[in-house]
Amino acid sequence: MQELLQLLNQISDELNKDLDLDKMLQRVIDLTVEHFKATNGSIMLFDDRNRVSKYILQRKDISQNQAHKIVGQVMSKGFAGWVFNHRRGDIITDTMTDARWLTYPDQPYTVRSVLATPLMRRDHILGILTINHNTQPNHFKRQDLSLLNAIAGQAAIALENAQLFKQKEKERATLSAIINSSKDVIIVTYDQENKVLLLNPAAENLLHTPAASQWQDQPLDRITSRPDIIDLAASAPVTNTNVELSDGRTMLAGTVDVPEVGRLILMHDISALKALDKMKGEFITTFTHDLAAPLAAIKGHIQLMQIDGTLTPRQMEDLDCIRMSVEQMSNLIKDLLELTKLESLKDFFKCDVQLKDTVKKTCQTFQPVATAKSIDLTLLETDFEQITTQGNPTLIARAVDNLVENAIKYTRPQGKITMSLTRDNKEAHISVKDTGVGITQANLPRVFNKFFRVNPPGDNEIPGSGLGLSIVKAIVDRHSGRVEVDSEVNVGSTFTISLPLNNGKHA
Ligand code: ADP
Repeated sequence: MQELLQLLNQISDELNKDLDLDKMLQRVIDLTVEHFKATNGSIMLFDDRNRVSKYILQRKDISQNQAHKIVGQVMSKGFAGWVFNHRRGDIITDTMTDARWLTYPDQPYTVRSVLATPLMRRDHILGILTINHNTQPNHFKRQDLSLLNAIAGQAAIALENAQLFKQKEKERATLSAIINSSKDVIIVTYDQENKVLLLNPAAENLLHTPAASQWQDQPLDRITSRPDIIDLAASAPVTNTNVELSDGRTMLAGTVDVPEVGRLILMHDISALKALDKMKGEFITTFTHDLAAPLAAIKGHIQLMQIDGTLTPRQMEDLDCIRMSVEQMSNLIKDLLELTKLESLKDFFKCDVQLKDTVKKTCQTFQPVATAKSIDLTLLETDFEQITTQGNPTLIARAVDNLVENAIKYTRPQGKITMSLTRDNKEAHISVKDTGVGITQANLPRVFNKFFRVNPPGDNEIPGSGLGLSIVKAIVDRHSGRVEVDSEVNVGSTFTISLPLNNGKHA
């Protein structure tokens, strides 16, 4: 008994010594063969689809090719197949008389008695452990099977651990390869001091700390003096923020807090996009500027020709058409210029804006246009005294004007437009509600896109550049506000601009 315990302990030690699967199993076979005074032993392993994935033999004088052949046959007709199918171990006392033992041509060694048992974990057979004696029948006894089962039990646990370890190692290596080959900067920090847990090579490059020994577990502010990067680790998580680097690059940065890990900081180089955007802006500005002068000349000449009066009524009509087209082109150019300017605007004049004045002024301005189209334009007189926001009065008025102009354009005669100004705890809301043609659900998310425009079916061509709502959105964005739309076809639309209240209270 003492001896058996010793063997089990020895095997257990061997199993825990090394996570190299082959070496570990080889040692198990050696010790088992030695203890049972057998002449040979083997372990066969299965993959998760029960196919033989490995065959380890104690004796090394069998080629891989031969081993493959043996495995195929013993699994289909031989003793290993029997053990696998019956899910338990057994003894072959004499191979001469037991039909489960398969002898085949060119068998490289002789066998008389065999002991085999499955390596099982949670009802799953991971492999089969076999030992044999080449000359003696009855070499193995019943109690030997119990001991082999105990050895197999230990080996199965170790085998599963080694396989799990290998799998985890593989996952870790894959993840690490992905992180290390990423051109995006990845920084992971942890604890109150924002110590560095991980920098990928792109991050090491950015922070000029090429060796892990220089950054591992160091507080971030000790390895970089860049306040914007330190801030990313220290302040509340952000989705998208631009970080301008001293080397001229612009990075789009975002942060997330990963539970039980720390703060993940991701930065993506958007310098090329920025440069392209700048080029686009410059192109539009130059292009629109250069187009404005010839268009003005065409307009002037049309007027002169019409004043001249020597034209036939048909020619007058044609000139009118040309004048309207030129007018449309001028408006498009004006809008494009305005939008480009707005998008590149960094800083602009701001003051307290009394929104009551803004909505009243817009309502008055557009009253004649609405009346001319037999549309009833009203401003709901609610208690909107002193609703103020910090902003540029001209830009905010331009945004509200655009909404009312659209409401008139897309509402048929006899329709109604209602403007309102309300507030809640944080924001002021300016709404423009019409009983017009409405917008389909499919088009709703696209109405704020540049150049998106739809002409209502059945209506005459409504002039427009498709930039009006983009301008509204650009203005509202620059005021940290938002613009939303709710609409139903043939019922009407409501556009609402929400702007932060001045200090969150009445001014
Ligand atoms: P434009 O009016 O010059 O076409 P906008 O950017 O102002 O460009 O509007 C984009 C599109 O959104 C319009 O073509 C129209 O289809 C739709 N739209 C805007 N306002 C309204 C409205 N009040 N009612 C119905 N459709 C609207």
